[in-house]
Amino acid sequence: DTTHFGYEDVSTAEKENRVREVFANVADNYDVMNDLMSGGLHRYWKDELLRMTGVRSLAGALRRRDHAPVLATTTTWNDEDDGGRVGKDGGGGGGGGVPPDDGKPLLSILDVAGGTGDVAFRFVDAANCIERAKSSGPDEVNVTVCDINPDMLRVGEARARARYGSDLLDDARSLKFVEGNAQNLPFDECTFDIYTIAFGLRNVTDVDAALRDAMRVLKPGGRYLCLEFSRVSSDIPLLGRMYDAYSFHVIPKLGEVVANDRASYKYLVESIRKFCPQDELSRRMEAAGFVNVGYTNMTGGIVAVHEGWKP
Ligand code: SAM
Repeated sequence: DTTHFGYEDVSTAEKENRVREVFANVADNYDVMNDLMSGGLHRYWKDELLRMTGVRSLAGALRRRDHAPVLATTTTWNDEDDGGRVGKDGGGGGGGGVPPDDGKPLLSILDVAGGTGDVAFRFVDAANCIERAKSSGPDEVNVTVCDINPDMLRVGEARARARYGSDLLDDARSLKFVEGNAQNLPFDECTFDIYTIAFGLRNVTDVDAALRDAMRVLKPGGRYLCLEFSRVSSDIPLLGRMYDAYSFHVIPKLGEVVANDRASYKYLVESIRKFCPQDELSRRMEAAGFVNVGYTNMTGGIVAVHEGWKP
């Protein structure tokens, strides 16, 4: 099958422009189409991504600390540098169990190619940012959505205001929407503890540059998680055939009928087919400097979450 705009033959700058155009076209219908095309499965995949980040466990620990001052007094906070702000048991003295309100978040999360905010909202909900925004306590979990496309960000920000009110967004308190390119992120090095990218990496023109820039903005010990369409396992040939038929026939048709935009949805399918398989992405992550690289297939390999750590 050939591409509708000769996807392989265009220059890098041209591909970037065309990707921009596709997401500008789909922004307003993006969330409805996501549900429709995946039969709601993208919600499950994103929930699993959140589970793998461990943020829910951290939020649970913060809640227990807030509600259990006796236990909390056995905790001191090592605040020597950005990366080392971890609780130590049994230290005695010091912070009295509550991290100092020095304006630095305990956990900084970056969701790249974050689009309309689906992954970021999962972090916000899991980390209970809303409750924290209402209290006068320190802003402990901080979520930044970065995307190259202002239209996707516009839809995301409107969804965030409708969902949470403005508390969370004003003064960039816990949730920020920032325009930027994954290959050259507008953030300082060693800024984030967790970097996620969901269904975004295959749209980036230079995947290796994006991996290197992820490495740059993560703190040492920080974690990278990429949720992306991948290769269906050859052990399940029937699933592979059904998935092919669905992708090449049903999805462009849905795009045409529901969003009146066959070309953009055809691009989405083609970009999935052209993206590298699981093992190759693992190798490229290692080449960018990530350690403990591995992946977890979901739904027979239709999607996979790749993980790695910055040493
Ligand atoms: N992460 C969201 C989700 O899972 O619902 C949105 C995924 S959407 C399929 C892909 C997103 O990648 C679009 O919002 C698009 O604008 C963004 N994107 C494409 N190229 C990018 C780049 N080079 N840097 C940052 N974002 C990019």
